[in-house]
Amino acid sequence: MTRDARGEGETGGPGPDPARSWGLAGGLVLGVALVVGLIGTRSGSETGERPAAEAGAVPSLTTVPTPAAAPPVVSGADTIRAGRALGQILADAGLGEAGYRSVLSLIREEIDPRRLPAGLVIRTSSRVPESTDRVSVTLDADRSLVLDRRGSTWSSRLDSVSVSLDTLYVGGVIEQSLWTSRLFGDTARLAPNEHVEIFLRLAQIYAWQVDFFRDIRPGDAFRVMIRREVRPDGTVRRADVLAAQFYNQDRGLPAVRFVAADGPEEYYDTDGAATRKAFLRAPLKFSPVTSGFSRRRYHPILHRWRAHRGIDYGAHRGTPIHATGAGVVTRAGWWDGYGRMVEIRHNSMYRTRYAHMSGVARGIRPGVRVKQNQVIGYVGMSGLATAPHLHYEFLVNGVQRDPKRVRLPPGKPVPDRYLARFDSVRDARLARLDSLSFPAAAQLASAAREAGSPTSGASGSR
Ligand SMILES: [Zn+2]
Repeated sequence: MTRDARGEGETGGPGPDPARSWGLAGGLVLGVALVVGLIGTRSGSETGERPAAEAGAVPSLTTVPTPAAAPPVVSGADTIRAGRALGQILADAGLGEAGYRSVLSLIREEIDPRRLPAGLVIRTSSRVPESTDRVSVTLDADRSLVLDRRGSTWSSRLDSVSVSLDTLYVGGVIEQSLWTSRLFGDTARLAPNEHVEIFLRLAQIYAWQVDFFRDIRPGDAFRVMIRREVRPDGTVRRADVLAAQFYNQDRGLPAVRFVAADGPEEYYDTDGAATRKAFLRAPLKFSPVTSGFSRRRYHPILHRWRAHRGIDYGAHRGTPIHATGAGVVTRAGWWDGYGRMVEIRHNSMYRTRYAHMSGVARGIRPGVRVKQNQVIGYVGMSGLATAPHLHYEFLVNGVQRDPKRVRLPPGKPVPDRYLARFDSVRDARLARLDSLSFPAAAQLASAAREAGSPTSGASGSR
C-alpha cells in the first residue's frame, strides 16, 4: 500500500475526477455502465447520515432540455482539445459578432477560458437554422453552464446534475488474498473496477488491525455496506463504506463510519473506539531529543556530512525503550551501524526502529507480537554511537520520515455527546450487514465467524 492510510477525506465535492468518488488519493477510475432507478436527489450534507431526498426532474448531463413546443432544429457539440480553443469553437457556432462577445463574457464570469480542460464539451443548439440560441458548456461531471438567447440578449445559468442515492451490500470470501476475493451480494450493481475501490477502502479501514499481506487466511471474509451517489449516466460521484465487518482468522472486526458534526469521518469499533490507533509520541518516557530529523548532518564518527533519518534521545544506559505502537517484531539483534536494534512492523505502512541498544528485552525476537508501550530493549551505545542514546526511526512505506511531520492517526473515540447517536447508527448498520448472508460455500469458516461475531452480544454494551 502506498496510499496514506488517512485517505484524502470524504469531503470530495463535485469534481470532474471520478477517482475522487471513492475518496481515495489517486484512486482508480470507475466505469460507467450502471443502471440505477431511484428517486432523484441532490447530494446531502457531508455530515448527514441520510441526505434529505429531493424529488424532481433535473436536467441530465448529456441532454439540454428545450421547450417541447420548439424543438431545436440544429444542434451540435464540439470538444476543447489541443489547438482548438473556446474562441474558435464559438466563432464557428454561428453566434454573430455581438453574440460571440456576449457568450464569451458570460463564460468568463464562471471560468477562465484559457484554463478550460481538454475534453470539455460545448454544445450549441438553435430553433432557427443559422441562429444559435443556446450554448451549453460542461464544466465538470456535475455541472454545466447553460447560456440562452432571448432576442439579442444572452443570459446564463448553472445546471447541476442530479444524483441518485443507493445503498449496496457486498460481501467477499477470501481464498488467496483480499484482491482476489469471491464477491457476493449486490455485485451486479457495482461499476467495473468498483470492487477494487472496495478492497482499497477495506485495506485503509483495517490498516491497524489486519496486515493484508501476512494475516490473511483462506476463509477470511468481509461484508460492507456502501452508500453511493450515482449520476444519471451511471458514474459514481461519491461512495462511502458506511459499515464493514471483517473476519480475519478467529477475529471479527466491525467498523462503523461515523461523522460527528464537528469532526472528520472516522471508523469505530462497536465500543466507539477509533479503528486507527495512535503512536506514542516517543519511545522513551522522560528523555530529551538530542538530535532531530534532518536531511544533512555531520556524523561525529564517520566525520562526514550525512542525513540523519531518525531522532536521537539522550538517556542513560539501561533506560527502558517502549514500542511506540503495537505490531510484530521484524528484526531484533545486531544490524551494522544500528548496533543492537529492534524493528517493529505496525501494519503494511508503518515500521519503527530502535537502535544502539545495550540489550534487547527478553522474549523480543522476529515474529513476536508486541503491544504498544511494551518494553522492547534498553538504551546503550552499540553500533555507530559515541554516547548512550536511542536512535529512533519512523518508516512510512519503507522510507524514514520525521515522525513529528507525519500526520499520525489520532485514534480518538466517539465524543461522549455523540455516543447515543453512534450507538443507534452502529446497531442499525451492523444489523443490516448481518442480513447479507454468506454463500453456502463460505460456511466452512463460519465457526470462527460466529465466535468472533461483532454483533452477537456486543450490541449496546460499552
Ligand atoms: Zn540517530
